[in-house]
Amino acid sequence: MALVLYDTWQRALVPFTPSSRTAVGLYCCGPTVYDYAHIGNLRTYLFEDWLRRALEFNGHAVRHVINVTDVGHLTSDADSGEDKMEKGSRRHGRPALEIADYFLAAFRRDWERLNLLPPAVWCRASEHIAEQIAFIGDLAARGYTYRTDDGIYFDSSRIADYGFLARLDRDGLAAGIRVDSGQKRTATDFALWKFSPVGVRRQMEWDSPWGRGFPGWHIECSAMARRYLGDDFDIHCGGEDHIPVHHSNEIAQNQACHGGRGARRWMHGYFLKVRPEQGGEAGKMSKSSGDFLRLDSLLARGFDALAYRYLCLTAHYRHQLEFSWEGLAAAQTALDRLREAAADAPDGGQPDAALMARFALEIDNDLNLPRALALAWEVARGPLPPAERRATLLALDAVLGLGLEHWRREDAPARARELAQSREAARGARQWQEADRLRAAIEEMGWRVDDTPAGPRLMPRRLPG
Ligand code: AMP
Ligand code: ZN
Repeated sequence: MALVLYDTWQRALVPFTPSSRTAVGLYCCGPTVYDYAHIGNLRTYLFEDWLRRALEFNGHAVRHVINVTDVGHLTSDADSGEDKMEKGSRRHGRPALEIADYFLAAFRRDWERLNLLPPAVWCRASEHIAEQIAFIGDLAARGYTYRTDDGIYFDSSRIADYGFLARLDRDGLAAGIRVDSGQKRTATDFALWKFSPVGVRRQMEWDSPWGRGFPGWHIECSAMARRYLGDDFDIHCGGEDHIPVHHSNEIAQNQACHGGRGARRWMHGYFLKVRPEQGGEAGKMSKSSGDFLRLDSLLARGFDALAYRYLCLTAHYRHQLEFSWEGLAAAQTALDRLREAAADAPDGGQPDAALMARFALEIDNDLNLPRALALAWEVARGPLPPAERRATLLALDAVLGLGLEHWRREDAPARARELAQSREAARGARQWQEADRLRAAIEEMGWRVDDTPAGPRLMPRRLPG
């Protein structure tokens, strides 16, 4: 059986055929870096990592691009409110770009801890203003834009099947947008370029043919996907919340620009829900409310980052997953047992072919990871000789990504341990800069420090996938 993946556009399971012989183009909407990522955001990146690993498991090379939104994402998705970055900057009393750098570094630390494979390209919106202006210029030349007092807008009425991705009719979409649509001609129109408000100095603003200002949020992804993957690439991903607005608008921009949708296939990871008593505000895990669980919240309670990865493996990506601390504790126990099952055996065995074939069927069936994980348990508990058991578990782990191979790791070198101790001392003395410098020195050695209640723990920086 070939790899079959669900496509949100077609609302169907569709066999995967790559668009080119070189590499599968995979564009994933990345973080808005005005705060830490919450564990819900991280679930979406985990889904995208499993998707990439599944493609690689099927023999495809993957060109994985992730963007970083550091300008233009307003507090309301409907072109009103404040720029999230400028707001974050005010809240922390630091320049917006510094805030972006800080939270991007924190994000990339989470990325490593979760054993997510490094993308080919990380692209920041603020570093691709020229591409966005050029894209808007194309849309203007084709007559898809108009000007209001506060910006240049996309005329969604000119796209015949606007909103098809979300299966909402135009009236339904318009009714869902409750804010005052101002001078917009149609409620579903959206900003491509916003003018800097008169008399207000923005930190992030640029000159453009239409006046000084900054790009809208949707144009960034169309422009950067085009720059790095072209106009006809394979897969575009994001969380389910992107279906009705962000991705509907990206598709409209792409259709207006060159007729195609950009990506052939659009895939969406479903939400992680957190009940208030588990630490999420009203179960919504809203990043903008500032009240949410992040990976560090789990580490602070003594869990491994990879236990969260394990927890997410237990639900299909097209189902919402309810977070609970009990669930995480069970995931940690299961992960530890699986690690032992893989560790307690010599190297040099061959993966069991029948088992691998069954595993491939589950992966190829739209990433049925809960079933794939159950097969890992069949191996861990089954009658295979130890070397074969280990080899099979490691082969499965190329997709699962639990870092099982690594579990028989050597201890961190003495020098890294010394640096970690000095960093603890610096932290105790509230010498944050020195502590950060030492963290960087440890990372340069290929290790990293996770702060846990039991004290700092040294982990290798990159677990082999
Ligand atoms: P943001 O940093 O807010 O732009 O979101 C980054 C990614 O996380 C996007 O792909 C969102 O769709 C996704 N996302 C947001 N909230 C959740 C959640 N509760 N569960 C899973 N994914 C989410
Ligand atoms: Zn995007």
